[in-house]
Amino acid sequence: MTNIPFLSFDKTNELIATEIKKAFGDFFDSKQYILGEKVSQFEREYALYSRVKYCIGVSNGLDALHLSLKALGIGEKDEVIVPSNTFIATVLAITYVGATPVFVEPDISTYNINPVLIEQKVTSNTKAIMPVHLYGQACEMDSLLSITKKYNLYLIEDNAQAQGATWKGKKTGSFGHINSVSFYPGKNLGALGDAGAITTDDYDLKDKIRTLRNYGSNKKYYNDLIGFNNRLDECQAAFLSIKLKYLDEWNQERRQIAHWYNNLLEEVSEIILPKIKKGATSVYHLYVIRVKKRTKLQNFLKEKGIGTLIHYPIPPHLQKCYLKYRYKVTDFPIAEELSKCVLSLPIYPGLAYKQVSYITECVKSFYRGSI
Ligand SMILES: *Cc1c(COP(=O)(O)O)cnc(C)c1O
Repeated sequence: MTNIPFLSFDKTNELIATEIKKAFGDFFDSKQYILGEKVSQFEREYALYSRVKYCIGVSNGLDALHLSLKALGIGEKDEVIVPSNTFIATVLAITYVGATPVFVEPDISTYNINPVLIEQKVTSNTKAIMPVHLYGQACEMDSLLSITKKYNLYLIEDNAQAQGATWKGKKTGSFGHINSVSFYPGKNLGALGDAGAITTDDYDLKDKIRTLRNYGSNKKYYNDLIGFNNRLDECQAAFLSIKLKYLDEWNQERRQIAHWYNNLLEEVSEIILPKIKKGATSVYHLYVIRVKKRTKLQNFLKEKGIGTLIHYPIPPHLQKCYLKYRYKVTDFPIAEELSKCVLSLPIYPGLAYKQVSYITECVKSFYRGSI
């Protein structure tokens, strides 16, 4: 019986097993368990990778977003522009600081925030735009930068899904005043537990984040800010340094897999394939197609041993936790439509051509059989 899980760590884990076990041994023996040399080392390496001046390791992606907003002083009465289709964490960070999320619909071909629709949402309370490089594809950064300049807004990238992607050759996570990234295990660069980081070129913001992540303190028992415990775990930092060395290779493998899917599914008229905007690259965190008869297709694939997921079944504005904003169905029709027809197929380093071809054959036979 074929079994192709939605996500598998088999190949990547096998590749790094020896290094990881050694790193854990070194960490254990070092007796430096909080903010030691491994965190500093990873911060240097990830800053270099992202081509930014500073990287500050933090506890996870949501905390990275939250600290970014805090460091910029965004809070009550402020509005933050955010895409209407994103993972809930982007929006949680905004409401966490007491600010109001202002949703902007995505471009239907890229699924990323549509820059053309942003200006009509800018008010005197708008403080920032938080684009999300969704599914691994870089947003249209030229337009976003010119809007933030024109209205004097902060730009905060949510780069949780696109480590290594570029817009006109420049890395995502290097455009904003301050940018967040998640190293949740399933991301393109994933830790073996929770982890995240903030990237910035701003010296003062870097200092403020370092303080905020560590109880608001620079000197033990002297607290300058009302801070948090949002430190990057020393052990995860050591693991991340190992995995970072493979990131470009693994992203390249994801691109290859996406290319196979694109070719093999091209002829299926019931499916809309991912489209990459000119100027952008994607690191295919997810391979998301739009399909007809989604539930039936998903069940059919499950019977064939193929795991799929939906990113995301309910857009943030319709989540129960945001009932207080009184959004209703039809408020953001593009996000709502996407939530009904998107389907993510397996994509990860180690997924073989044979498996991709089996998956696409199953998809084709589903539509052949059900007219
Ligand atoms: C994963 C993710 C986050 C949150 O990251 P965590 O490390 O799980 O807190 C935020 N935004 C987006 C777009 C994500 O995909």
